[in-house]
Order: sequence, then C-alpha cells, then structure tokens
Amino acid sequence: MIQRIAVLGAGQMGSGIAQVGAVSGKDVILYDIKDEFLNRGLKAIQSSLDRFVQKGKMTDADRTAAIHRIKPTSELSEIAPAEFLIEAIPEDPALKLDTFRKLDSLVSKDVVCASNTSSISITRIAGVTKRADRVIGMHFMNPVPLMKLVEIIKGIETSDEALDTTLELARQLGKTTVVSKDSAGFIVNRILAPWINEAVYALLEGIAAPVDIDTAMKLGTNVPMGPLELADFIGLDTMLAILEVLYKDMGDPKYRPCPLLRRHVEAGMLGRKTGRGFYRYLPGGKA
Ligand code: NAD
Repeated sequence: MIQRIAVLGAGQMGSGIAQVGAVSGKDVILYDIKDEFLNRGLKAIQSSLDRFVQKGKMTDADRTAAIHRIKPTSELSEIAPAEFLIEAIPEDPALKLDTFRKLDSLVSKDVVCASNTSSISITRIAGVTKRADRVIGMHFMNPVPLMKLVEIIKGIETSDEALDTTLELARQLGKTTVVSKDSAGFIVNRILAPWINEAVYALLEGIAAPVDIDTAMKLGTNVPMGPLELADFIGLDTMLAILEVLYKDMGDPKYRPCPLLRRHVEAGMLGRKTGRGFYRYLPGGKA
C-alpha cells in the first residue's frame, strides 16, 4: 500500500490534495517554489480542517495528526522518498513539461507520477519522461476535500498496472473515479469549459448582468453554481488555459476563448483568489 505521497504545488488544488492525503493517513511531502506559497497552502488546510472539526465531522486529535503528516518543502530534491507523486502546479504546458522532465530523475523509477492537469494531454507530459508507462492523469475536482470525483486519464503508454495503482490510491483517499481517454479536456472540462465560455460571451454581448446569468442557470438547470461564479471559483487564468488547450487541440472555433475572459486575466482579475473576477470578493470570500 502506498504510504508516502508527494504533492507538487500548494495552491488551491495541491493544498486540497495534500489535505485529503493526510486525512486518509498518508505521509505527504508538499512542495512549492517559495515558503510563502507553502504557508498560504498550509493556512488553507488548517482552516478547512477547522471547519470539519467545528461541524463535528472530525476530532481535534485527527486534525492535529493530519497536519503533522504534511511535510512542506521548497527543495524539489526532497520529493525523493515519495511512493506516488501528484503534480498540481499552474495549467501552463511549458511549466508542466519542464517540471516532469526534472522530477523524472528525482523519484524512483517505479513511482507513478500523476498530473492534476485540467486539459493538457497526459501522453504529451509522459513524453518528456523516461517512464511514459507510469505517467497518468489524476484530475481532482475543486474543492478537493468536498468533491467526490477524480477523473483518471490513461495516456497512450500508461500501463494497466499504473492505472490500477492510481485507482486504488483514489479509493483510499475516499474518492469515486471515472476513467477517460486522453482527449483534450477529458470528460468534465470538455463539457464544462464551453459552457462557462458561452456565459462569458453572453456577458460580453450584454445579454444580462452576471448575477442574472448565474441565477438563470442555477434555477433554470438546477446546478449549485452559475457559470460565472464557478469560473471565479476555479480561477479565470485556469479557465483561459483550459480553453486555449481545447481550441488548439481540436482546432474548432467553438472552443475559442471569449476575449472578455482574456481581458480579465490580463488585468490580473483571476476570480476569488485575487479578490476580483466577474464579481468582487470581500476578505473571507463573500461575493
Ligand atoms: P493555483 O494557482 O491555485 O496553484 C498553483 C500552485 O503551484 C501555486 O501555489 C504556485 O506557487 C505553485 N507553483 C508554480 N510553479 C511551480 C513549480 N514549478 N513547482 C511547484 N509549484 C509551483 O492553481 P490551482 O487552481 O491549484 O491549479 C493547479 C492545477 O490543478 C492546474 O493544472 C489546474 O488546471 C488543475 N485544476 C484546477 C482546478 C480548479 O478548480 N482550480 C480543478 C481541477 C484541476
């Protein structure tokens, strides 16, 4: 059984993955490039666990034990003892490829290296390593501690053994899995990203105000979040990156990122994480 996992990136997703790993009893090496990002991630984990304790879903002792299982580091070489690796760094193809190239020589040959990418081809990521049979997609949903689903993506060369190891780890983390082929956006973002993009086009065309677009979709289609608030929650930079990958990979204009989405990203209005996206957020996250 896998006992020690490494998580690369302590942002929204990486901190959530580290948290579920630690709560499930795994030792977690959490890597980010700077201590300040690690501290931000650890703070997010702490406050998420505090909420579980307040709601009576976790004991005080379990919270403390989980936090102690996480070892933060800004030294990439310290991921070496990992038995399974999950990468959750920004959705930038060049950065992901460069990172997989580096980590390939740092962790043992038999270790499965998973990417939490939302849209980038797993086969492409695997291609820069010498372990293409042990590179796989493990696409967690946001927020990781609350969302049940993990999409598992098999690259062209991913072995059945690596798939089984990953399915078993996801099960141990308390997640439900679906397996997808390595096609741009996999299942969730293939369908979700064009939905969000269309809402941004509707906003650009002045069809309705953001709150009306979101209310229409929430009450009209029975989803918990409207497309614009969900985009703010995911991160507009991440949304743009996903659409760029879909558009480039499929060559179909229906995936063309809306210029208004691009303008928001250029302005640094990335959604909740920067306090402003399609909505403005107060400290603490209230829109
Ligand atoms: P984020 O911006 O919140 O976090 C990214 C983290 O990676 C930051 O802490 C950053 O400092 C760190 N980082 C940057 N360069 C690094 C490097 N070279 N090595 C290690 N860490 C580095 O982004 P996020 O929302 O957590 O997204 C991470 C990944 O998860 C992306 O691939 C994204 O597509 C995917 N994802 C995101 C969501 C979502 O809803 N946000 C959902 C599923 C999957």
